[in-house]
Amino acid sequence: MNKPVPPPVDRAAASRAAVAARRARASVKRAVATHARSAVDVLETAWTQTEPTPEGGLRVRDLLLSVPTMGPTRVARVMAELDIADSKRLAGLGVRQRVRLRAWILARESRGRRGPASRLVVLAGPTAVGKGTVSTFIRENYPEVHLSVSATTRAPRPGEVHGVNYFFVSDAEFDRLVEHGDMLEWAKVHNAFRYGTPRGPVDDALAGGQSVLLEIDIQGARQVRTAEPNAILVFLLPPTWDELVRRLIGRGTEGPAEQQRRLETARVELAAQDEFDFRVVNGDVSHAAQEVVDLMELRPIEP
Ligand code: 5GP
Repeated sequence: MNKPVPPPVDRAAASRAAVAARRARASVKRAVATHARSAVDVLETAWTQTEPTPEGGLRVRDLLLSVPTMGPTRVARVMAELDIADSKRLAGLGVRQRVRLRAWILARESRGRRGPASRLVVLAGPTAVGKGTVSTFIRENYPEVHLSVSATTRAPRPGEVHGVNYFFVSDAEFDRLVEHGDMLEWAKVHNAFRYGTPRGPVDDALAGGQSVLLEIDIQGARQVRTAEPNAILVFLLPPTWDELVRRLIGRGTEGPAEQQRRLETARVELAAQDEFDFRVVNGDVSHAAQEVVDLMELRPIEP
């Protein structure tokens, strides 16, 4: 049976639309080729918009070819290593292909600016999931990772050491750090005290080729994504909701009203997990820590 042929007027409109789409894709490629836009930003647009976009319609091969210094032979090799077919468009990639492609591009982009293996990794997650325990485990067992020490306006708890757990600062000092642009990110957490990541030590460690881990709240993670698009965002999850409830109220230090408030907060925070690049389940602390550290050592596939 013959296929129905669209009337001529539709064909003309379709071909105009196709030309416009091609132009839009060409402009995305030009922006990447001239460093006006990062390739990872193109991926993010392709994968976060619900409407069709020029980015989503771009062939993976064409995106890689527009990355400066990537030629056809290298691109073919990388596509094979990433297990992505030649004809694939960004919007048509499966989840694993997306993770692999993003990791490859991040690795390549950060390699230009920093040492080959240095990564900025953000560890966030809901209240009481055990971020602090995982980051303490990493500090004690993986000395090669630079764990950022935050500044906070809250008072030290028994056993906490200035410069190790936090820099405990006054409100005025915190104001000064923010005003001078010395904070990579900062937020008021639980509507109480302010917490922030001093920028200098993070930049120094990355410039020296060390990977850096930030253990911060979700508001802070969002700010890092904007300030440092190459950062890898990891969301720490409880094994189950019931386990989170148990950890949250198990310590019995809060009254029922406060427990309820924290559970509501945890529910809202859990809903943010889709904004993150990777999820790690904190069932066993050493396994969760190992997974986070592994993410820091993603190495680029050599071109
Ligand atoms: P705590 O007072 O129990 O040590 O920490 C409370 C919360 O503050 C935790 O959720 C922790 O992740 C968050 N936090 C710690 N340091 C920072 C920081 O530098 N920036 C942001 N945004 N949150 C932080």
